[in-house]
Amino acid sequence: MKLKKVLAIAMASMMVFGLTACGGNDAAPATTEAPAEEAPAEEEAPAEEEAPAEEEAEVEAEAEDAAAEDADAAAEAAGAGGNIGVCIYKFDDAFMTTYRNALQEILEGKGYTVTFMDGKNDQAEQNNQINNFIAQGVDALIINPVMTSAADQIIATVKDAGVPTVLINREPTAEQMSAYDKLVYVGCDARQSGTMQGELILDTENKGDINGDGKVSYIMIQGDPENVDAQYRTEFSVKALTDAGIEVEELDLQRGDWDRNKGQEIAQNDLAKFGDQIEVIFCNNDDMAIGALQAIQAAGRTVNEDIYLVGVDALDAALNEVASGNMTGTVLNDAQGQAEGAVAAMEELLGGKTYASGEQSIYVDYVKVTPDNVADFQ
Ligand code: BGC
Repeated sequence: MKLKKVLAIAMASMMVFGLTACGGNDAAPATTEAPAEEAPAEEEAPAEEEAPAEEEAEVEAEAEDAAAEDADAAAEAAGAGGNIGVCIYKFDDAFMTTYRNALQEILEGKGYTVTFMDGKNDQAEQNNQINNFIAQGVDALIINPVMTSAADQIIATVKDAGVPTVLINREPTAEQMSAYDKLVYVGCDARQSGTMQGELILDTENKGDINGDGKVSYIMIQGDPENVDAQYRTEFSVKALTDAGIEVEELDLQRGDWDRNKGQEIAQNDLAKFGDQIEVIFCNNDDMAIGALQAIQAAGRTVNEDIYLVGVDALDAALNEVASGNMTGTVLNDAQGQAEGAVAAMEELLGGKTYASGEQSIYVDYVKVTPDNVADFQ
């Protein structure tokens, strides 16, 4: 909904801009044609009256020139040719790789010069990269912070330099963002993805209670717990079950840091420890779910028969597994939509827009993916 709002605003400003340009173009031929059309009137009119008419035309032409100059300046600020610095928390992250590719295609397609930096999961390294971009005089920054807890420092730095900035993927608090009005966050509301994961389990024939003992026993493989996406997905996936009146039992909760190998290790150990007791494996993202699937298959278990498995992101690999029944479902984390939203917000900032406190988060909706609709995403 919010993305639509952003796109609508972007289109509206483009339309206003388009109208300004059109007005100028329309006016030009009209001015040229005017003398011919007005010729008979001029013949009748006294000489003194011609001067004001000409002056009026000149003033009109000047105003048109000024409007055209303003439009050019706005186009230069908001359009092609700007230098954009993009900081990614680490390149070696499956979802952020998809996101980065989408950003690159959109920005380069619009004629920007873009430099991507790999934060290597190190906040100090990313701070240097931000400072370097500022020293180089970039027109705008797009930042995927390494640590949400570093948001205050990042915001203070970009504010000091006066660089318009879009934060992505790791959401700071509204209060932190309110420190700088040329700053906006584009991402998703992670509570929604958690709820959808819970719904995927509720939608199964036995609502996740495979062994019929009256409760759903699960393990939770968490992303980086410093990250609000990990916190909310962990909380809201289970909340969807308890809100539906289902009893739950948490057999284990461990951090897998969004990483496939860690997902595989945690699932392998838990499958060895808890065996058939595990009915559901919740993973905060797909990469860890793909790792967990390897462990499930190695343990001789079968997804959707004796265990359920859900992730988030809708990575290509996960979509294939959902289609072939090896994952119960996933949730689309719309990298393309978020990249488009981030660029639209960046262009608005470049065009001079500022954001009021409390209105600095723009969300793109998540979408549930099941075998029924997976083909729409492949
Ligand atoms: C994605 C994860 C990714 C993380 C990085 C999350 O929104 O679901 O796959 O690792 O962002 O911050």
